[in-house]
Formats: sequence, structure tokens, C-alpha cells
Amino acid sequence: MDHFLYRDGALYAEDVSISEIAAAVGTPFYVYSTATLLRHFRLFDDALEGLDHLVCYAMKAASNQAIIKTLGDAGAGMDVVSQGEYLRARAAGIPGNRIVFSGIGKTAEEIRTALTGGIRQFNVESEPEMAVLNAVAIELGVIAPITIRVNPDVDARTHAKIATGKSENKFGIPISRARAVYAHGATLKGLKIIGIDVHIGSQLTDLAPFEQAYTKVAELTEILRGDGHEITRLDLGGGLGIPYAHSNQAPPLPTDYGAVIKRTVGHLGCEIEIEPGRLIAGNAGLLITKVIYVKSGEDREFMILDAAMNDLIRPAMYDAHHDIIPVIEPAPATLPQTYDIVGPVCESGDTFARDRAMPPVVADDLIAFRSAGAYGAVMASEYNSRPLIPEVLVNEDQFAVIRRRPTYQEMINRDTMPAWL
Ligand SMILES: *Cc1c(COP(=O)(O)O)cnc(C)c1O
Repeated sequence: MDHFLYRDGALYAEDVSISEIAAAVGTPFYVYSTATLLRHFRLFDDALEGLDHLVCYAMKAASNQAIIKTLGDAGAGMDVVSQGEYLRARAAGIPGNRIVFSGIGKTAEEIRTALTGGIRQFNVESEPEMAVLNAVAIELGVIAPITIRVNPDVDARTHAKIATGKSENKFGIPISRARAVYAHGATLKGLKIIGIDVHIGSQLTDLAPFEQAYTKVAELTEILRGDGHEITRLDLGGGLGIPYAHSNQAPPLPTDYGAVIKRTVGHLGCEIEIEPGRLIAGNAGLLITKVIYVKSGEDREFMILDAAMNDLIRPAMYDAHHDIIPVIEPAPATLPQTYDIVGPVCESGDTFARDRAMPPVVADDLIAFRSAGAYGAVMASEYNSRPLIPEVLVNEDQFAVIRRRPTYQEMINRDTMPAWL
């Protein structure tokens, strides 16, 4: 459920009209709903009630500081995957003891920043990383709390680019080698092993892969405890999918997911962390764009928008579907028209949807892409020298620009000329 609904024939974000925001900030832009972000966070938080737990928002999904602070103020921790994300979370006021650091390529510099600034734990993904982390911790005279990310060799049955839990994926250590790696880790003086981490992929629409992975984590917990390790924390990753097409069957709810967690690892007495990103932010954001032209091709109509693949790359990158709706609600009896919905970027990959039935549009109509809150703004680029588009946050009847549109001059001035030119 989200808070983007038609009211008297016009689309609203909570109590603010989308047309009003468009008039104030211009198009295209992203708009997020505070109520939706908080609702999704609380669904996870409530799903783990009864377990000692922390919901660490995977901020790579949507990392504007206003979003981070909204969730942080509600009690969320953060899952970060880079120094930039770590510093952004700290800048938004998240205490270090609520930040977990994931990622397969943490550099010594990134590790130093997090160890100095405060960290809940590192999710270590390889033995070379473990060695570097140990060395940096010893150099700083501190002890780094770690979990080790295991790769459970489970098929997440999601898009290949976002599946991470099979043995051929680059993530974690093979679960078959876990005992040896934990034994080695226990000898390193700069580290304190506190638990196990797993994350098998994104946009999972079925609970079975989670159940398989978490069952393996439970077995491993018993084995490692038998080997003498204190396993007190389990980080179970993120990955629960969202309904992108309203016509499709909805993925399982956080409550069902919480039940799987309780059933598989609830008896172990461990503190539980989860790292949802997409489910918190995905349906909490829209991309708002304007029709520039409607152009008739030989056998099809093209709807040409002022948003493009550089603003929202998911359709081009993951063949993703987004529901696309007009901001002004069509009259009930309107007959749909079929469009290829495209952006202005100079490649055919800049296509958002083909043969999409839509109410007829004309130039200057406002269009909304639903479910664009996660992996939208964060994956945007300036391809074709198109400046990054603004982000807006709505809270009840208020809205604020939380990242403004840069001017063309600002974008151009970032280049510097070498002395010989
Ligand atoms: C991407 C990622 C997540 C979040 O995945 P979602 O599908 O957005 O919930 C969580 N943990 C790790 C380690 C990730 O890489």
C-alpha cells in the first residue's frame, strides 16, 4: 500500500497535489511519501516483534539524507556498502552503532573511516578482506566486530543481475568453507566474530529461497557454536520483492517473511538484523515526467517523455516493468491507446515500455511512474548531459525539495580544462 491516490480526478502524494509540485519544481522529478516509507519500515519492525532485532535499511535503494533521517528517527539502522554511504548516513544523524557495513570490495581507507567513526559491525565477504580489516583495527588499536557473509548456494529465482546467493555469484564465502574461515578469523587479534551474514538477492517474490538460506544459517550457527564460536547476531540480508505491476500477484508480505525468520532461526537466541531496501523505498516513490511529443510511427504511437533512461535505468537494465499512469485521472469511459513510451536519449535502449495501453495523452500532460522509489534516483546519471533530476519529499500537506536540480552551468563547470588547452 502507498499514499499516491487520485483525489477529485488528480494524483496526490499524501495531501499534496502532484501537479502543484510539478508547477513548483519543474519536470522530471522524483517524489517520495513519508507515510509510505514509515509504513513499510514498521511492517518489518512489527514482523520481527518478539525477537531482539534491528531493521537496517539498505540505503543504496534511495539514499537521500532526508529519507535516511526519516527512517533513522523511526528507529532504523542502516546497511551501507561504501564509504560514501557511511558518511551520508552519519551526516543524516545515524549513530555508528546502528550502521552495518556490507560489500565485497571494502578498501582499507573505507574500513578506517568506519572504524574511526563508529560501526555496529562489518559484514566480511572474503579472507583477504578479513586480513585487511584485522590489520587496520590493530593499527588503530580497536577491535572490529564482524559477521562473515556466507554464500548458501540457494537460487533466489530473481533477475540474474540481482541474484547473489548462488555459488557462481561473487558474494560471501562458500558455506562449505565457513568452519575453516571462522577458525582462522578467531585467531586474528583485531577482530571479534559475533555472527553470520547472508543476503541472497533482490526482488524475491517467493519465500522458499529465504527459508532454504535461513535454514542453512541455523545449521551453521549450531556447528560454529560447537566449534567454540560465540554466535550472537544473525544478519539475514534484504531482498523481499515488491509488486511492480498492480495486475500481478503480490509478493509475500513482511509478516509472512517475519514468520519464516522466526520459524528458521527464532530458537537460536540471536539478535536478528535484516536489511530491506526495495520494499521500504520502492513503492514510496514516483517519477513524475511530462509528455514532450506524441509521434506517429509506421505502425505505432511513440509517447516521448522528458524523463529518460539516465533518470530511471531499471527498464533498460533489468527489463523492469513500471506501472505508468496519467497525473490527471482519465474519465471512466476513456478508451485506451497503445504507446511505446520512450525518453529523449539517443539510443533505442531508452524505452520504458512497449505496446503499453494508456489513456490517450497529448503534449504537456504529466505522467507518473509508480514504484520508482528504489534504485531510481540513486542509479541516475548525467548521460546525454542531462542534469540529475530533483528529489521531493512529501509529509502530509507539506513538501520540500530534498535535492535540487543543478543548473546547466553547475554541471558544465565540474569539468576542468588541462593547462595545454
Ligand atoms: C542490495 C542489498 C540489500 C537490499 O536489497 P533489497 O532487495 O533492496 O531489499 C541488502 N543487503 C545487501 C548486502 C545488499 O547488497
